[in-house]
Formats: sequence, C-alpha cells, structure tokens
Amino acid sequence: MFVDVHTHLTDKAFDVDRKDVIERSGCIALVNNGYTIQDNRETIALAKKFPLVKIALGLHPSETAVLSQKEIDAEIDWISKQKCIAIGEIGLDFTYEGQEKQIVSFRKLIELALKKDIPMIIHSRKAEKEVLDVLEEMKAKKVILHCFSGKVKLVERAEKLGYTFSVPPIVNHSQQFQDLVKKVSITKLLTETDAPFLSPKKGERNEPAYVQISVKKIAELKGMDPKEVENSIFANYQRLFF
Ligand SMILES: [Zn+2]
Repeated sequence: MFVDVHTHLTDKAFDVDRKDVIERSGCIALVNNGYTIQDNRETIALAKKFPLVKIALGLHPSETAVLSQKEIDAEIDWISKQKCIAIGEIGLDFTYEGQEKQIVSFRKLIELALKKDIPMIIHSRKAEKEVLDVLEEMKAKKVILHCFSGKVKLVERAEKLGYTFSVPPIVNHSQQFQDLVKKVSITKLLTETDAPFLSPKKGERNEPAYVQISVKKIAELKGMDPKEVENSIFANYQRLFF
C-alpha cells in the first residue's frame, strides 16, 4: 500500500523500462506531476496506459517564469477542463527569474485547485516563506509541500496551517529531512520520490520503488513499526485525495 505522490514517470529517463519501473514500484498509486504544457498531455496519456498512474496537472515555476501570460492562461483553462486528482507541480522557485510573474501564475493555479476542491502539490526553492504567504492568504487547505527545505520555523508554520509534507527517499541521509520527520505528526506525512530526480543513491536514477526507503527511515525516526507507517501514510493519502 505504498504511495508516491510526486513522480515524473513521463521523463525520458524511463523510456527504456517504464513498464518494469511501474510494475516493481510496490505502490498502489503513482501521482505523476505534469510540469510543462507537453508533460501535462503526456501525463494523461501515461495514466490511460497504466491504471496505477494518477494524474496531477500543473505548470512548474521554471515554466511560468518564461511562458507568455497568454500561453499560461490558455494552459490553466485547459487544465480546468481535465480530470485530475491534484494540481501539481506548481509553486515558486526564486533560483529562476520572473518572480512577480511566477507569483501571478501560482495564484491562478491555487485558485483552480480550490475551485476543483483537489489537493495542490507545491514546489518551493529559495521561496519557502513566499509560498506559505501566498497559500495562507488564499486560504488553501489541501496542500502538499513537496521536498520542503524551509527552516524549522517555516515547517512549524506550515504544520499549524494543516499542510502535509511529502518525504523523499533522500531522508535516508539528509539531516534536514530527518529533523522534519521527527518534528511533524505522522498524520501530516506522505511519501514521494520526484523520480527520476533526487535519487537516494548517488549518480543513479531514482524510481518509485524507493518510497520504501522513506517508509523504513520514517519508522526508525518515529520509533514506529514500518507496517504502521505504511498504513498511516496510505490513510493520509486517502483522506487528502478522496
Ligand atoms: Zn518534481
């Protein structure tokens, strides 16, 4: 009953063995996060082929930073007409330029998630506080912070706001994520991989089967049984998505 709420199985890194990767994932749900105009369409096509793959549609801040406002609005309108279980990957990334533009689009995508009443899966880099500011102001509730690297104070603030954190397998060696897991209630944790990125094994491709690494580590950090962690995370997934 493992879940990967943030993955990119449409990536060309999986072109050679996508079917095998999905079959050996051990997961009951693989939420593929569309992040470009093309990737959103590929996400829908992939879900048609593999029932384990669930659809999240969005525009990554690296895209909203560079696309024209007309292109962005047309895509948001297109997403609004699609069936999806979440809006993602969306967010703010201030390692890219166009911060104001990113914020305008981020707001529109949050609005869409609120209108559809589905979770939003949030990317934040060098903009963790700004992301929380916008989400709080817009009264977003079904929020999943993907790979959240904000300071302890921001983690506390996000938890107070009722947001959920999806934990990547790099928790195995990342002190920052270990601290986050120890701090945050098990009822507010999910598992993700961001595959093919963020591999727990240096220089290798990441894949959804590695959510089991996160579950094991969460169990160790929380002094819980791995099966209990697996069940809790599945319950969190169901509560949030359905
Ligand atoms: Zn991602």
